[in-house]
Amino acid sequence: MTILVTGGAGYIGSHCCVTFLEAGHDVVVLDNLSNSNAESLKRVETITGRSVLLEQADIRDQAAIEAVLSRHNCTAVIHFAGLKAVGESTENPLSYYENNVVGTHRLLSAMAKTGVHDLIFSSSATVYGEPQRLPLTEDHPLAPTNPYGRTKLMVEDMLRDVAASDPRWRIGMLRYFNPVGAHSSGLIGEDPLGVPNNLMPYIAQVAGGRLDKLNVFGNDYDTRDGTGVRDYIHVVDLAEGHLRAYEALGRLEASQNSFAVNLGTGNGHSVLEMVKEFERASNRQVPYSIAARRSGDVAECYADTQMATDFLSWQASKDLRDMCADTWKWVVKNPKGYQL
Ligand code: NAD
Ligand code: UDP
Repeated sequence: MTILVTGGAGYIGSHCCVTFLEAGHDVVVLDNLSNSNAESLKRVETITGRSVLLEQADIRDQAAIEAVLSRHNCTAVIHFAGLKAVGESTENPLSYYENNVVGTHRLLSAMAKTGVHDLIFSSSATVYGEPQRLPLTEDHPLAPTNPYGRTKLMVEDMLRDVAASDPRWRIGMLRYFNPVGAHSSGLIGEDPLGVPNNLMPYIAQVAGGRLDKLNVFGNDYDTRDGTGVRDYIHVVDLAEGHLRAYEALGRLEASQNSFAVNLGTGNGHSVLEMVKEFERASNRQVPYSIAARRSGDVAECYADTQMATDFLSWQASKDLRDMCADTWKWVVKNPKGYQL
């Protein structure tokens, strides 16, 4: 029973590989390494003492996926591969539609052709768009506000249609909130190319001295300290959520063979709270200044976690302190990320 992990060399995928290998599953990674380094998988092998094969290929290449699925007798796919930067998606939407939507279409076609029908997909809380009510429940209207989010919603819609068309499919869509942190070994973590877009890796690079100061995007939101509030979730908890979701596929009925579930903690933290907690964890200063709001940002976003608790028997167990401490350990051990 081998699981194909697309995008498995990336940030979340590499942590998932660890979780699945430790649970006794065999894993093969398909990744084009456009935003990752094969070194991450060597580190996964070090952590788990098990081997991970990398098939360097692109999800837009249907024939290559078919060959990989057949060669390794894969029975399921966990699909992380894709592009994920909101700002870049507004500048270059075609490459987002191509990698995320066309790529997933090719992947599904390859799965159908080779008789693989179990799939877990990385969706995102960004499919909800501007929250009309909080916490965000899975039945909240889906109205993403940027091309990246629209690619995620299009893929979700495609997956619901595919599942409805053939009861052999079993599909789980996981709507991640804000994944942060790193494996507690400090061997794998988030390694963004260039200046990070996201808050946690940016703060980590300020604390580590690679960047001078953080720009806090707005302090006039209607939140407890005026800065944006998000539901940060430790990447190892997130990986555990994938394992639970994979196990839940086996419990799906033919009449209801897909699900979409939030993976978050249910707790919101502000930008300034993140800064404070990171200063505590790192024992370093994180200088910041208040800047203009970033366009497209919402004030607050956090998950309702009831469905994950009930349906997946999963709850996040790590808190902000763990998220900051593990991120800091990763940064200290790997000041240049995976560049050796
Ligand atoms: P990442 O960039 O670290 O990992 C994605 C991996 O996919 C990389 O290794 C990259 O090389 C690979 N890839 C990209 N395009 C590919 C293609 N066409 N063919 C083959 N491989 C390709 O990103 P991540 O943070 O690990 O995110 C994984 C998934 O989770 C993505 O689908 C992302 O949209 C989703 N997600 C991420 C977040 C987040 O904050 N990190 C939040 C919500 C959802
Ligand atoms: N943020 C910030 N400065 C940064 C990056 C992010 O103030 O350099 C804020 C951003 O406005 C939001 C929060 O941090 O309120 C989380 O942003 P991130 O990009 O990490 O996640 P997302 O906006 O996708 O939820």
